[in-house]
Amino acid sequence: MTTSNSSFDVNRIRLDFPILKRQINGQPLIYFDNAATSQKPQQVIDAMVDYYQNYNANIHRGVHALSQEATDAYEKARQTLQVHFNVPKSNEVIFTSGTTHAINIVASGYTNFLKASDEILVSAMEHHSNIVPWQMLCERSGAKLLVIPMKTDGTLDMMAYSNLLSSQTKLVFVNHVSNTLGTINPIREIVDSAHQFGASVLVDGAQACSHLKVDVQALDVDFYVASAHKMCGPTGVGMLYGKTALLEKLPPYQGGGEMISEVTFERTTYAELPHKFEAGTPNICGGIAFGAAVDYLNKIGLDQIAKYENDLLEYATSALSEIDGLTIYGNAKRKTAVISFNVANIHPYDVGVILDKMGIAVRTGQHCTQPIMDYFGIPGTVRASFAFYNTYEEIDSFVVAVKKAVLMLT
Ligand SMILES: *Cc1c(COP(=O)(O)O)cnc(C)c1O
Repeated sequence: MTTSNSSFDVNRIRLDFPILKRQINGQPLIYFDNAATSQKPQQVIDAMVDYYQNYNANIHRGVHALSQEATDAYEKARQTLQVHFNVPKSNEVIFTSGTTHAINIVASGYTNFLKASDEILVSAMEHHSNIVPWQMLCERSGAKLLVIPMKTDGTLDMMAYSNLLSSQTKLVFVNHVSNTLGTINPIREIVDSAHQFGASVLVDGAQACSHLKVDVQALDVDFYVASAHKMCGPTGVGMLYGKTALLEKLPPYQGGGEMISEVTFERTTYAELPHKFEAGTPNICGGIAFGAAVDYLNKIGLDQIAKYENDLLEYATSALSEIDGLTIYGNAKRKTAVISFNVANIHPYDVGVILDKMGIAVRTGQHCTQPIMDYFGIPGTVRASFAFYNTYEEIDSFVVAVKKAVLMLT
């Protein structure tokens, strides 16, 4: 089967990803673990090699030519992110080591701004990295953590959310897309309701950015966080976007070089944004490659990507649904190409092991979302997550493999 979308040539795109030529256990690799991390195109790998081979130097410090080149490339990557996410000002883009780091900067920063009567809302479908830092914040500040419940189709209960909001609500945390269920949450609606009560909203975009074009101003989010490695970039780099007024209010997360304005033993003053939050030598190569990854995604076009992945999702969902006893968790109308499922009482891990023998990489377990598993009363799921470089043929092989696994395990 081929795609109806003529300008989208998946075979051409696959040539950009060297790893897709690999064999696993004697079979061609079928990589369906994109929600854990995406593969990297040659363009991104080249950007990393180019930095280390040709202009490796520390940034923002040296007057020498290499340092200038490295600084220019790093700051150009920041601008690429700014334009891509429609961030008003480039100094509102903070480089971090990833989503987890970005969330912790904000969670730590709010410690002294909350009191015991304050409330924080977090959705029932969050990744552990968007739960635990807020629990730690509540322990430090005495504020209370309340959960926005979820419905059986894997969407948020928006009525319950409205009822939870009050003048005590100070912060709301929700992911843009659930890494386990694929649900695309109604961010603008969540933000508008929160703002009516003066609460700020942090959106975890780790799972959204490789599938959707994100515009932080259209969404009116207060903070937006992402990881490069889920968007065809390298590990160890990510982004925190925040509105200037909020970022200026937050204290620095780490002290060190680069984040200061003046240092004496009596007193230190902090640097302006974004450097206040970028202590120490950053992941220079990673930042530059993050920019290259965003350029790469834009060259293909996120609209094209979303459309193609949605076709893959529909195709795979209907094929899997024909397997007896198979349950899919997460049936939101608006979802990305993630399918979490179980077959009868077979343990997801056992399915994963058999699929691996056939060269198919899926994730099994809780996917860092134990509360979702508890909600459905299951130990975990098998999760197949697709990217724009996956094909219909791979899905056909996958469905055959799942059927074989079920035969072997029952
Ligand atoms: C992957 C992921 C995270 C954590 O990202 P890191 O890169 O591990 O920091 C957080 N939230 C969601 C929804 C994710 O998919």
